[in-house]
Amino acid sequence: MIVVQVAVGEMMSNAFIVYKEGTHKAFVVDPGADYLRIKKRLDDIGITEVTHILLTHGHFDHIGAVAQIKQETGAVVCIHRRDASMLQSDQDSLAVMAGVTIQPVKPDYVFEGGETIEAADIQVEVLHTPGHSGGSVCYIAEDVMFSGDTLFYMYCGRTDFPGSDPAEYAHSLREVLGSLKKDYTVYAGHGIKTTLFAEFSNNPYLMR
Ligand SMILES: [Zn+2]
Ligand SMILES: [Zn+2]
Repeated sequence: MIVVQVAVGEMMSNAFIVYKEGTHKAFVVDPGADYLRIKKRLDDIGITEVTHILLTHGHFDHIGAVAQIKQETGAVVCIHRRDASMLQSDQDSLAVMAGVTIQPVKPDYVFEGGETIEAADIQVEVLHTPGHSGGSVCYIAEDVMFSGDTLFYMYCGRTDFPGSDPAEYAHSLREVLGSLKKDYTVYAGHGIKTTLFAEFSNNPYLMR
């Protein structure tokens, strides 16, 4: 499985193109902005089919290019139920706070958490990790985790936004991520990649 990271937008959010070597299908995680840059990377790699757009949560900096990619590719847009309204509301997605507007899009598939789906021939598990937002999820595929704004290299997500919940967040980190027995390469929503066990050992915001 190949993961291509593309930093997009003014918040330097990470979009990811994920595919199996030798295929021309991919799924995209968090196309937050810069549709044309993501499109160019897809074309350069030789991706001809985007099967799914998997969203770690619904904040504006993670969803800004969803509508265009969906229009262009017909990809299935997936988000957790509790963040679904963010795809159609500049208020809910916090776009208004940043003075931007997002092209609204209807989700095609709404998660509850705990699902495993197949995207671009890759099994993807959905872990509900609320706290930064109510519908924040982490996606696990093979030995990789896409953590959105739930976990960063040596840092954790903000919990002072409307819809954030520090108590839920603490539970998600300690009980949901903290109970995982396997180490994963963690691709975060902003910044560089890390690993799950390295964060549990070194991240000052994570106390076991
Ligand atoms: Zn966020
Ligand atoms: Zn973010």
